[in-house]
Amino acid sequence: MEKKYYPTIGLEIHAELSTNTKMFCGCKNDPDEEKPNVNVCPVCMAHPGALPVINKKAIENVIKVGLAVDGKIADFTEFDRKNYFYPDIPKGYQISQYKFPIVSGGHLADFDITRVHLEEDTANNKHPEPEQARYGAGDRGGYSLVDFNRAGIPLMELVTEATTFQSDEEAAKGSTKFAKELQLILWYLGVSEANMEKGEMRVEANISVSTDLKKLGTKVEVKNLNSFRSVERAIKYEVDRMIKLVEEGKGSEIVQETRGWDDGKQKTFSQRKKEGSADYRYFPEPDLPKMKLHEAFDLEKIEKELPELPQAKRARYKKDFGIKDEDIESYINEPSLGAWFEEVAKILKNKDQIKIASNYVTTDFIGLRAKSEVKLPSVGNFAELINLVSENKISSRVAKDILAMIAKKTNSKDESPMKIATEKNLLQSSDTGALKEIAKKIIDASPKVVADYKGGKEQALMSLVGQIMKETKGSANPAVTKQVLIDLLK
Ligand code: ZN
Ligand code: MN
Repeated sequence: MEKKYYPTIGLEIHAELSTNTKMFCGCKNDPDEEKPNVNVCPVCMAHPGALPVINKKAIENVIKVGLAVDGKIADFTEFDRKNYFYPDIPKGYQISQYKFPIVSGGHLADFDITRVHLEEDTANNKHPEPEQARYGAGDRGGYSLVDFNRAGIPLMELVTEATTFQSDEEAAKGSTKFAKELQLILWYLGVSEANMEKGEMRVEANISVSTDLKKLGTKVEVKNLNSFRSVERAIKYEVDRMIKLVEEGKGSEIVQETRGWDDGKQKTFSQRKKEGSADYRYFPEPDLPKMKLHEAFDLEKIEKELPELPQAKRARYKKDFGIKDEDIESYINEPSLGAWFEEVAKILKNKDQIKIASNYVTTDFIGLRAKSEVKLPSVGNFAELINLVSENKISSRVAKDILAMIAKKTNSKDESPMKIATEKNLLQSSDTGALKEIAKKIIDASPKVVADYKGGKEQALMSLVGQIMKETKGSANPAVTKQVLIDLLK
């Protein structure tokens, strides 16, 4: 029997908080600033004698995240110095948190959360290629530049417990789901833009595999995961790499190290052997006060004022609207669309109409948006459209056409679907007389289809319905048309 391998994953996620100012100074926190070294001051440039001051808003934001994931907010918390040398860390240490993080415990998706703490982001090192050289003709690049705009931006770090999965696929998917869910929470709380492509949210994964559930394998840390797709692919790649080494009897080649993810080659690669936390010589930051969070903040008030979070919203949409999970995810991932849809639902009469409406949003509107410039129609007009189609006053084909008209971005008028349908003569007639005439004509012209139907081929009838729909430019009601045909062919 083939051996079963259990991948174990622990995640470390860093997210830049979108405060107005940096973590320990009054410099602007502007991730979009393109000019280097403009949002800087003696504190974030580490000039001797400059003293840090805590940004209270950043702490409040981490408290919100802690509450959102059911973590415990520490009573006592403090900052520590994490010592290491690198050009992007001008003080020679990063102000971080070690023994007393702001949040301990919590849960999200498939992972238990160990802690959430606050630290400062580093500067940005840039290594210009020769073609990006900026000092004239003799400049062949090959040097490094440091941009301190990012130095000192508040950075939240969330660490999960190691979680064991049943397969490489599950490990990759479960980890990606966690990262997506955390991003949603950060958005809903309004504490971070968490844009992975811009490096505002960065994922690292600690990965090991084992054939024994009681014993973890050697762990490798994979860094540089800057998209959800990279998270998923890198974890699957690394788990598979480790399994293969073990299978080939080369398990000892798995060493504790930091690996990077090469998005071009779709491979992980060895970067450096991992330092232990002892190497950082953590010690409490003497220039900052210790904090008692339960005294410094009104935690009850913060909790009461938390917005509705994704999980609660999912449950509410399911209960109130009875719509499909897929539809719900469209609204969860795009809260402004969800808010608009909630307004539409308020006007509609019942769950059946709400389901029809949701179909037109998630299939037709989103489909249109993928192909052309559209805007959301007014809530009233969209609800009117759904009324018309659900009461069979217009056919679904006409409804789609009218939706395309009222959603067109260049259409500045906000026209009523009823008015459009009336003017363009698209309303379905309740009078079956006219329909009967057309049906007779089609029956006479299609002897073979009629014979098929009479011979017991039910679906032949749909071919006749289709022809009538074509003849009436979609304004015939399919159900009524079908009935008219059945009566005529008796
Ligand atoms: Zn500064
Ligand atoms: Mn960190």
